[in-house]
Formats: sequence, structure tokens, C-alpha cells
Amino acid sequence: MECISRDELHKIQGERLAATVKREYENVPVYRERMDAAGVKPEDIRSVEDLQYLPFMEKTDLRDYYPFGLLASPQEEIVRIHGSSGTTGKPIVSGYTRNDVDVWSEMMARTLTAAGATRGDIVQVTYGLGLFTGGFGAYQGADRIGAMVIPMSSGNTQRQIMMMKDLGATMLCCTPSYASYLGETIREMGIDPKKDLKLKAGCFGAEPWTEEMRQRIEQLLEIDACDIYGLTEIAGPGVAFECLEKNGMHINEDHVIAEIIDPTTGKQLPYGMHGELVFTTITKTGMPMMRYRTHDICTLTADKCACGRTLARMGRIVGRTDDMLVIRGVNVFPSQIESVLVGADGVAPHYMLIVDRVNSSDTLEVQVEMTEEMFGDTVAHIENVRKYITAQIKSVVGIASKVKLVAPKSIPRSEGKAKRVIDNRKL
Ligand code: ADP
Ligand code: ZN
Repeated sequence: MECISRDELHKIQGERLAATVKREYENVPVYRERMDAAGVKPEDIRSVEDLQYLPFMEKTDLRDYYPFGLLASPQEEIVRIHGSSGTTGKPIVSGYTRNDVDVWSEMMARTLTAAGATRGDIVQVTYGLGLFTGGFGAYQGADRIGAMVIPMSSGNTQRQIMMMKDLGATMLCCTPSYASYLGETIREMGIDPKKDLKLKAGCFGAEPWTEEMRQRIEQLLEIDACDIYGLTEIAGPGVAFECLEKNGMHINEDHVIAEIIDPTTGKQLPYGMHGELVFTTITKTGMPMMRYRTHDICTLTADKCACGRTLARMGRIVGRTDDMLVIRGVNVFPSQIESVLVGADGVAPHYMLIVDRVNSSDTLEVQVEMTEEMFGDTVAHIENVRKYITAQIKSVVGIASKVKLVAPKSIPRSEGKAKRVIDNRKL
């Protein structure tokens, strides 16, 4: 399925889409109401091209019909509930049938396989195991492959490292911010990843990260670091995954259809253009999603990948329409600032953006941790580094900011998704 011809894939997608839309229309009142309002009948939807006539779903819909108002299967067929970690606002939940758990496991098995996992591997799962989909997703995928799973869940870094070493974990699944923190701690403990550990690769996702951060993690842990994307509403992690070519994430298109739209007009955009990512599930039965607006911004490409997979790829998430900061009228994504900080000498990529409004003008303060060596350096040198970073940020994001270099380890570490922004303007 991962190497199927695009024509064949489109045929399968069209059939599955038609069946899913029919199921939604018949079983979920809100889908029926919205399709009626849009003047679309299930029989109008026969191919992927017809997708554009269907109404969108939003996160607010999951809140409004919380918890079971969007189920397309009888409640007794639901075998699992997961919920979003609530990065933005109140949590939402999704119900999974046995089929949905199976499909998701398959997507995660592909994900791990693409990063090099086989049944001989030992997979350390450091994503939280709980309502959050990260931990269970990684566990199910590794289990499906027949690999050995260490379901550590998040937290207790010293213990994570001890188990990693003692059990000889070969693959790691966690957020990129935690992977970098694990890498730093390993180095501080004097552990040599090449000699003392068996790690070869990791699947890192659940939050935005940059190419610079990838290189840092790869150097710290001496592994291949692959990006992995997912969201609770669609399945969980594994909706899309990078192969070892590391050139974008292959989308599991036999289970979901991806579109890029203009976030203001809602119109489809061609491949190659940045816009909002929209997913339609075509095999999910418990809580299928029609044109779900992710608010994540990226591009799509169906260009050939050297790995042989024909599944289209999504580029790195450059931000979310809802975490995009508009500062003095300029769009700023935390990832732009991260790309400056990861490459810079004298600082560690642990940062916090503090946005405020002073005398009706927006201000941006960038707090960045110094490295230990830098911390003990001369005031003049520290000031030079600060000026350099200030200039770099100005040239990348286009606005002036106040850069503040803070002591090593003074910015809180996250074991799950990192919090990078404090926007005091909303208070
Ligand atoms: P939320 O973060 O909204 O509470 P989830 O836990 O379901 O909900 O997380 C899904 C969101 O996490 C995605 O919509 C996306 O913004 C972010 N995300 C997941 N994987 C990645 C990734 N590889 N790169 C960037 N962002 C990601
Ligand atoms: Zn590939």
C-alpha cells in the first residue's frame, strides 16, 4: 500500500471516501445537517475531487458535541477513548472502535518501520501513556511489528537513561524537546552514546521543531531523528511519518486524505504552497472526521521519494494558525526563532517568548539560556553574543525584539509538549 501507484490509490481513496460520507450522513446528525445546508448528498461524493463540496469540521465541533455526539458507531463498539493534551484550550475526546485501533496501529507500525525498526528492535516509549495518544500509539506500532516495547511513559529522566542503557534500547519515541533534553543529560552524565548506548533512531513529534533541532538531536544522541505527525481527532501519532530520507512526512493516504487550504477563504491550494492542513478520514468508523481543519501550516508534495514509497509527503509544520503570533502586524512563528537559536554559539535552544503590549505597541522578549561555558564568560563577550542573536532574529522574523540571556537550566523543561510562548496581551 505504501508503494501503490497514485492512480490506484486515488481509486481506493474515492471508494473509501464515498462509503465514509454515507456512514457519516446516516449516523451523525450534525454531518447530515451540514451536508443538507451545503446542498450535498452522499451520492454526490464519488471521488477525491468531490471532497471540495463537503463542509469543514473544527475543533470547536468536538467541544460542542463532547463527548459522544460525533460517534458514527453504536457506543458499545467503542473500545477506547483518547483525549487531546489541550495545547490550546479545553481537552477534547475521540472514540475508537476495534477497527480504528487496528488502523492506527498499522499506521504506527509503518512509522517505526520507516525509521528502521524491525522485530529485533527495543523501542523505548517516552511519550506519556494515558489519554494522550503519543504513548499508546508508539506502543501499539512497536507491538504490531513484534519489537520489544519499554513503555516508560514520560518523566524521571535519570530512570529513563538507566533503562535505556541497561536494556539496550535501540529506538526512542518522544517529543523532540525531550529528546534534546535527554541528549544533554546523557552527555552531562559522561555517557558516550556510541559506546554505552545502542540507540539507532528515534521518532519525534507531537510538537513543532526545526531542521536545526534535528541536527542537534542527531549529534547529541548519535541517531537518525525522524519527524512524526498526528493528532487525536484523526488517529493519534502516525498520520504521517518520515522515512530515513528525512525529506518530509509520508501521509498514510489509504486511511486519510490530506488537503491544503487557504485558511481565510477555505479554498484548496495546489501542492507546493503553504496553507492549512485539512484531513478527511476514510477508514475510521468510531468517530470519522470530514475535512477536519488542523490549523497546522505546511506544504504537500507528491514528488517521488528515493525510499520507493509513493505516499505524498507533508513538509515540516511551520506553525499553527492559532500559535502564530501577530506582533506589530508581522506574523511570527516560534519555529522561526528556534531556527536562529539552535544554530547559535553560546546558547542552548531552550527559550521562551514573552509578548506584551506597552503604550499600545507590541513587544517581544526572547529569553534564551546560555550554555555553562558562556555563563562563566566575560560580560563583554556575553553582550556580543546577545547583540548577534538580536540581529539574527531581526533578519529572520523581520521585527525587533529584546533578547535576554538567562542562566543555564532556568527555563522550565517539558516532558511532553514544550511551552514556548507567554502572551500577556490576552490577559
Ligand atoms: P493538542 O496539541 O491540540 O492538544 P494533540 O495532542 O492531538 O492535540 O496534538 C496534535 C497537534 O500537535 C497537531 O495538530 C500539531 O499542531 C502538533 N503536532 C503533532 N505532531 C507534530 C509534528 N511532527 N510537528 C509539528 N507539530 C506537530
Ligand atoms: Zn520516503
